[in-house]
Amino acid sequence: MNSSPDLHAHSTASDGTLSPALLMARAGAAGVKVMALTDHDTLEGLPEAAVAAEAQGLAFVPGVEISVSWGGRTIHIVGLGVDAENASLQEGLAGLRTFRDWRAEEMGRRLEKAGYAGVLERAREFSNGRLIGRTHFARALVDLGHAETVRAVFQRFLVRGKPGHVPGEWAELADAVGWIRAAGGQAVIAHPARYGFTRSKLRRLVDDFIAAGGEGIEVISGSHSRDETLNMANLARQSGLLGSAGSDYHGPENPWIELGRLPALPANVRPIWHDWPSIPAPRVATVAPEGA
Ligand code: AMP
Ligand code: MN
Ligand code: MN
Ligand code: MN
Repeated sequence: MNSSPDLHAHSTASDGTLSPALLMARAGAAGVKVMALTDHDTLEGLPEAAVAAEAQGLAFVPGVEISVSWGGRTIHIVGLGVDAENASLQEGLAGLRTFRDWRAEEMGRRLEKAGYAGVLERAREFSNGRLIGRTHFARALVDLGHAETVRAVFQRFLVRGKPGHVPGEWAELADAVGWIRAAGGQAVIAHPARYGFTRSKLRRLVDDFIAAGGEGIEVISGSHSRDETLNMANLARQSGLLGSAGSDYHGPENPWIELGRLPALPANVRPIWHDWPSIPAPRVATVAPEGA
């Protein structure tokens, strides 16, 4: 039985490959009790996920992963427990999606100029009319035979200095945290060890984040090594941030990451869920009327 909360995962509403409902079914089958959906810059998958999670007896945490430009780089801020009806969050995310649409066209133009035709069209097929991101371009470039793996595509085409790269112009850190808080959620720094920041730059990010009202940091991430986990646990303790945990699952194509398969939070980090009223409903009896 795996009861670790999994507070970071993607569906087809952004760059995951499972629908929100299939994602929740997989979480239930994996023994997860508390599961979030945190798609990039969209809330579109949340209603479907909430219904499917209830059918599984899962405690569902509606979330989002917001793209932010900070310190000349792109970072990601997860929002947990957000109200999907909140106008300020919705409007903020809509602005980011407008940039995404422009960026996709610009990526298509740059790749075309570099001799790779038809990539935007194929990427659009992979995104299936929903939010489009670099992962869809990566799948398109693999599909068109320009690279062997999605990972290789990023190195060759989609990172800084490569032909398909377009610099991000994302949300301000304080705005992203503000939208999350306006929607009643808690803001969390996603996969902090992935940014390649020095200790002092990471510390600066944490300071700015706390000043904006941020509360948590992913100590446990599907992308963290053991050492990175311990470093981030220390950072959480020193800065007073709550610790979060999430697989950053994108689909069964990456078999090295599985829903809920996460190490425990180090004991001296206070979990972000410490005061959540998240006693999951039992698998049966989810249809009992309120107050019964
Ligand atoms: P975007 O927000 O559209 O710029 O895309 C960012 C997403 O691309 C991340 O959430 C990952 O899913 C994926 N990604 C970023 N870097 C890599 C990489 N080096 N290898 C594989 N996937 C990556
Ligand atoms: Mn992604
Ligand atoms: Mn991310
Ligand atoms: Mn993610």
